[in-house]
Amino acid sequence: MRIPRIYDPKLVPELGSNLTLDDFGANHVAKVLRLKPGALIRVFDGHGHEFEATLTAVGKKTTVELTRELTRSVESPLKLELLQVVSRGDRMDFTIQKAVELGISRIVPLTSERCGVKLDPERAAKKIESFQKIAIAACEQCGRNVVPEVTPLQTLDAFLAAHQGNADGFINLTLDPRAQSKLTDLPNSGHYRILIGPEGGFSAQEVAATEQAGFVGVSLGPRILRTETAALVTLSILGAHFGDL
Ligand code: SAH
Repeated sequence: MRIPRIYDPKLVPELGSNLTLDDFGANHVAKVLRLKPGALIRVFDGHGHEFEATLTAVGKKTTVELTRELTRSVESPLKLELLQVVSRGDRMDFTIQKAVELGISRIVPLTSERCGVKLDPERAAKKIESFQKIAIAACEQCGRNVVPEVTPLQTLDAFLAAHQGNADGFINLTLDPRAQSKLTDLPNSGHYRILIGPEGGFSAQEVAATEQAGFVGVSLGPRILRTETAALVTLSILGAHFGDL
């Protein structure tokens, strides 16, 4: 059986320390998997620490003892940041799950002129919380022990205003079907920030604003891809060409 991996940010990363699983982890271990004391699981804190752990109690409190430190790292050698205008329905969920599997470092959900999703601040916060949960579940599944941050929802304009120029070493890219360059033409900087538009694309004004902010247009070929396909393809090409895919 595959050893279950549980995310828990409160774990004290020391051999022999004890951890009481939160309700979600406890439910998964006790009710879904029906594990008994003595069973082995893995726990990770989302910041790179991962341990093999033995279940010591199941019930009101479900506890584990950390019995072996696991030092493997499956992080991408690239720093990859996805600026994704929020897409409709479950497309954004799909994008987040796949981006995590492909090694994304940070996800920045954005709204833009033609963004089809309109949320008041309360619903926006709930949505971000649910995106973060999807990122955690993807880490549990794919073996990553670093959970990528999903940042609060912001407008494209606000993001660009705060990121003028390339001061932080990232190559800033706008995925645009009309651009001339391809991803494989880029220099190997190791740091790529990838901006992907909504179903309706970017307005001419927005394209101009991204250029002004130092973003370079790149194309994924002559066919128009769905927004969720564009993210997956971009991360695959960058990973295969410059990273560890
Ligand atoms: N009707 C829009 C297309 C939107 S597709 C237009 O003509 O611009 C949604 C997003 O996916 C786009 O904003 C872009 O960021 C990305 N995308 C889709 N196909 C692409 C391609 N062939 N090259 C680069 N980016 C693409």
